[in-house]
Amino acid sequence: MSHTTQVVVIGGGQSGLAAGYHLRRLGLDFVVLDAQSTPGGAWQHAWESLRLFSPAAYSSLPGRLMPPQAGETYPEAQHVVQYLADYEKRYELPVERPVRVLGVHRDGRLLRVETDSGTWHARSVISSTGTWWRPFLPAVPGQGAFGGRQMHTVQYRSPRDFAGRRVIVVGGGNSGAQLAADLAYDTELTWATQRPPRFLADDIDGRALFDVATARRRALDAGRTDTGGVASLGDIVAVPPVREVRDRGLLKASPMFSRLVPDGVEWADGTRAEADVIIWCTGFRPALAHLSPLGLRHRRGRIPMAGTRALAEPRLHLLGYGDWTGPASATLIGVGRAARDAAREIGRLLAVDG
Ligand code: FAD
Repeated sequence: MSHTTQVVVIGGGQSGLAAGYHLRRLGLDFVVLDAQSTPGGAWQHAWESLRLFSPAAYSSLPGRLMPPQAGETYPEAQHVVQYLADYEKRYELPVERPVRVLGVHRDGRLLRVETDSGTWHARSVISSTGTWWRPFLPAVPGQGAFGGRQMHTVQYRSPRDFAGRRVIVVGGGNSGAQLAADLAYDTELTWATQRPPRFLADDIDGRALFDVATARRRALDAGRTDTGGVASLGDIVAVPPVREVRDRGLLKASPMFSRLVPDGVEWADGTRAEADVIIWCTGFRPALAHLSPLGLRHRRGRIPMAGTRALAEPRLHLLGYGDWTGPASATLIGVGRAARDAAREIGRLLAVDG
């Protein structure tokens, strides 16, 4: 089957929906293609205890505030899934699922989007496929030697699966801290981090982080000195479960080990810890394989951009992958502005080129 539309949005998580909201407001013809069978993007796959790091009202997409979750200041992932499902219905966003995009190709004045269920031709494409689908694992010596189980954050669900086991959690970011906190009571836990964990002050949550990111953008836009952004404050939001475990003294980090051995890990000084499971909370990379036919230059996995537009292909916009595709655009509250900018630019392109 072959279809033609003005804009194809690839990915129907929060970023794709925010794009759809603004494309609809501009009266453009578009479709959202999403590989998942059901709404909610990556939030559908989160571990059971995951909570947002901001209250609901500070986690909203354009047009509709996220309603609070009864009894929870920081909503659960399932609440976000429901909000996103409701959002796409409310704005009648044309999401096609499950449709996996295999490749985006240049085709004269159009872009051709090849999928596992047909082909779409469009004047412009917004890629908003997130990062959850490309877990990153660092190369550590001895990886093949370890006889236990290795997994990434994306496979983790609940401490029930590891009760009584010897678990090593690797990573000093939010996922590492939250999984370590989750596992601290029921397992024999080692938490390994490359540098000592840097907790943000307890009163700093996603709201404050968003304010800092906004102030930084304003400073940079006005040509003032870079304020340093959120990274200068710390790495780990002290969400209530993390704070509780930390305050009980159960969240002690060890330095990063230097290699894996058959029954665990070993530090440079020869100390060893035995382990049944190693969980790598070592981050993600943008899921951009579908763009490879365009042959865009990558710099450390990132495509050179002007705002949300790919410098080398002005018909392509990228949304939601991180600050490099718009300040705070990889958050619920932040993606709306980048989505608005992308939609406006596409509107202008179509007005000029027809
Ligand atoms: P996704 O949710 O990943 O959605 C992308 C969609 O594209 C998916 O449905 C996917 O199946 C689809 N897709 C991928 N490839 C293709 C393809 N080739 N063809 C078609 N479809 C495709 N942000 C906050 O604001 N607050 C928080 O508290 C917060 N907590 C987070 C906690 C964790 C552990 C993580 C990892 C992130 C968190 N974020 C948070 C950041 C961000 O909000 C989420 O990562 C969010 O899921 C990003 O949304 P997205 O739409 O960009 O990507």
